Amino acid sequence: RFITIEGGEGTGKSTLIAGLETHFLESGQPVTVTREPGGTPLAETLRGLVLSPPSDTRWSAMSEALLVYAARRDHLEKLIQPALAGGQNVICDRFADSTRVYQRLGGLAPAVIEMLDDLVVGELQPDLTLVLDGPVEELMARRKARGGSDVFEAMPLDFHKDVRQGFLDLAAAHPDRCKVIDATQPEAAVLSDALKAIEDAS
Ligand code: C5P
Repeated sequence: RFITIEGGEGTGKSTLIAGLETHFLESGQPVTVTREPGGTPLAETLRGLVLSPPSDTRWSAMSEALLVYAARRDHLEKLIQPALAGGQNVICDRFADSTRVYQRLGGLAPAVIEMLDDLVVGELQPDLTLVLDGPVEELMARRKARGGSDVFEAMPLDFHKDVRQGFLDLAAAHPDRCKVIDATQPEAAVLSDALKAIEDAS
């Protein structure tokens, strides 16, 4: 199965993915964990260009989306598809829904994203998408209390709220594929909700 994990900053994607990986391995189910943008050497190179362009430069929304989808195609061809064909479960930290949320907030029309997605991803859609969700202020306070890096500071609060709403809207539009999980719960409860969603989907 192809499972993607989505959500805004501080929602605990990495913690959940580590928990899922351990669970899959301990229960004897082969699993490949990967991330986007990235996952292959070329796609990781594109990740660097997308997330940290040279100083004083900026991609247009369209150019950024083309880079993200070029990285995604490389990732699908070289890692995700072969792993699925080899019987692995694939867990991917972010996938096309992050493009639908972030690049759309960057100004790209949803119709353009869907055209790119049809072309590049086509039938290779995730079987299940877990959306980690919680109030931005609460996630921010939690991150601060744990002394983690303050990833929230880079963008205004309203941006993070728009990201949250973007993921919730996507989940509501694709109820068969997406499952929203309360990210403010203790780690073990988040993991158990995720495992239940995976079981229900199989
Ligand atoms: O998942 P992670 O925290 O590593 O993502 C890093 C950042 O990449 C996100 O905060 C988001 O701003 C950005 N991103 C993006 N477009 C994507 C995927 C991620 O702008 N398609």
